Amino acid sequence: MRLTSNKIEEILVGILGEAGLPLIRQLIGKENVSEFDLATKTRKDIKVVRKMLYLLYNHNLVGFTRKKDKQKGWYIYYWTLLPDSIRFSYFKTKRDLVIRLNELLEREHKELFFACPNDCVRLNFDESIDFEFHCPECGELLAQDDSTKRIAQLQAKIKEAEGELAKLHAARQARRKLVQERAKKQIAKRKAALRREEAKKEREKEAKKRAALKKKADAAKKRAAAKKKKAAEKAKKATKKKVPKKKAAKKSAKKKAAAKVKKKKVLKRKAATKRTIKKKAAKKKVVKKKAVKKKTSKKKVKK
Ligand SMILES: [Zn+2]
Repeated sequence: MRLTSNKIEEILVGILGEAGLPLIRQLIGKENVSEFDLATKTRKDIKVVRKMLYLLYNHNLVGFTRKKDKQKGWYIYYWTLLPDSIRFSYFKTKRDLVIRLNELLEREHKELFFACPNDCVRLNFDESIDFEFHCPECGELLAQDDSTKRIAQLQAKIKEAEGELAKLHAARQARRKLVQERAKKQIAKRKAALRREEAKKEREKEAKKRAALKKKADAAKKRAAAKKKKAAEKAKKATKKKVPKKKAAKKSAKKKAAAKVKKKKVLKRKAATKRTIKKKAAKKKVVKKKAVKKKTSKKKVKK
C-alpha cells in the first residue's frame, strides 16, 4: 500500500481531530522536525503541539530523538512519522470499519426501527417503547422506518470498505512476500559469503599446511646440509690431525723399530747365551750317554 498524504491525514485526524491537520501536514514527508519549529509553523503554543505529539506517540504513530541544547541545558525533541505504524493503523481502521458496518447491517435485518417524520431521531423497538413512540426532540409520533434504503446504503459501504481492505491485504501480502524474498536473498548472500569465507579459510589452512611441510622439508634439508658440512669439517680436521699423528706414528714406528732392533739384539744375545748353555748341556749329555753306553755294554756282557 502506498501511504499517500490523504491516508496519513485520515488516520492522524482520526486521533487528533481536524485541529491537528496543520501539525500533521508539517510532519508529512519530513524527518526529525524540532517541536519548536512545529509550534512556529503551525502558529500554536508549544504546549498544545507537545500534547498532540504525545497523543500520536501513544498510538505509536510518531517517534522522536532528543538532543541536549548545550546553551540552555534542556532537551529538544525532534519528531518523525512512523510510516509502517501508520500503514498498519490504516489497515486496522479499515478492518474495524468493515466489522462495525456488518454489525449495523445485522441489526437492520434483526430489529425494527422507528423514525421521527422530522428526521430528529431513529430508534429501535426498545428505545421507542421507552419514549412511548414519540420523538424525544419534537414530540411527534414515530413511524416505523423502512430499513430497505438503509440496508442498501450499508451494503454499499461494506462493499467499498471490503474492496479497499482486500486491496490493502493484497498489498500487505505482496509487501510481506517482498520482505521475505529480500530476507531469503540476504540469507542466501550471507550463506554464500560464509561458504566463501570457509573456502578461503580452507585454502589458507592448506597453504599453511603446505608452508609447514615446506618448512619441515627445508629444515630437514638444512639439517642434512649441516650434518654434511659437519661431517666434511670433521673429515678435514681428521686429516689435519692425522698428519701429526702420522708423524707421531712415524716417530713411534722408529721407536718401535729401534725397540725391535734392541729386542732382537737382546734376543740374539739371549739366544747366544742359550746356545752356549745348550752346547754345554749337550756336552754333558754326551758325557752321560757315553756313561750309559758303558753300563749297557757291561750288562750285555753279563748275559
Ligand atoms: Zn422529532
